[in-house]
Amino acid sequence: MTIQLVCTPRALPAHLQVAAAERAVALNPANHPGPALLSRALGLNPGKERIAVMIGKRWPSGGVKLKVGFLDSPAPALRARILSHMNAWGKTANVQFTESKSSPQVRIARASNPPDMSGYWSYLGTDILSIPAGQPTMNLEAFTMDTPESEFIRVVRHETGHTLGFPHEHMRLELVQKIDAAKAIAFFGRTQGWTPDEVRAQVLTPLEQASILSNKADAKSIMCYQIPGTITKDGKPIVGGKNIDKSDYAFAAAIYPKPQPQPKPKPKAV
Ligand SMILES: [Zn+2]
Repeated sequence: MTIQLVCTPRALPAHLQVAAAERAVALNPANHPGPALLSRALGLNPGKERIAVMIGKRWPSGGVKLKVGFLDSPAPALRARILSHMNAWGKTANVQFTESKSSPQVRIARASNPPDMSGYWSYLGTDILSIPAGQPTMNLEAFTMDTPESEFIRVVRHETGHTLGFPHEHMRLELVQKIDAAKAIAFFGRTQGWTPDEVRAQVLTPLEQASILSNKADAKSIMCYQIPGTITKDGKPIVGGKNIDKSDYAFAAAIYPKPQPQPKPKPKAV
């Protein structure tokens, strides 16, 4: 039996977060949640560090064109296969990933160790620009041409969603109920530096309640939280959405709209 790995969200180290948030707002002003939402979530006079974690990490709305490099020289067939799943988002959105050896912004590793580099993860959106050249921005542990197609669809497309700046979505109530709250608080405290309140808000508040604050709610989203078996009550991982679904595609198209075709010039009056 193979153990199905799940995504571990990946955040920049604390000392890089404020500068990265300022860059994100400079690249796309819509990344700023606005003063009303900030004061509702954080109270009056929150520090820069607390504001930084609420700043979005989306690329400019004019479109995303990113170069992709591989850090461990996989064979051409595997590189092409990974790229094709990254570009699945381009079906509806103005998104294009191309392979390049020259200063790629997206750098993919397939590391199984050390433990803090292993597993499946990607930094979020414009945060990848804060990672030093030569270090991975995405990890696809042990992916090979023998990895099932369903895993390319589930994992590569999910991690690419993070690279596009899409965070995890809340989960359905029946999935949240499978999580051991104390273990989740310890796990996300250790891996994300979240306070118990942040874990309750981010992971332990199901979609039905969280959607009061958020206008999009999609229980089958490929960006649903993925939860390791170590923090569920039955020891089984929660793998979340298995493919980009209709509302994921619609959301991506709204964030990075494709250019509208230019209207044909009117024939000149004779
Ligand atoms: Zn994820």
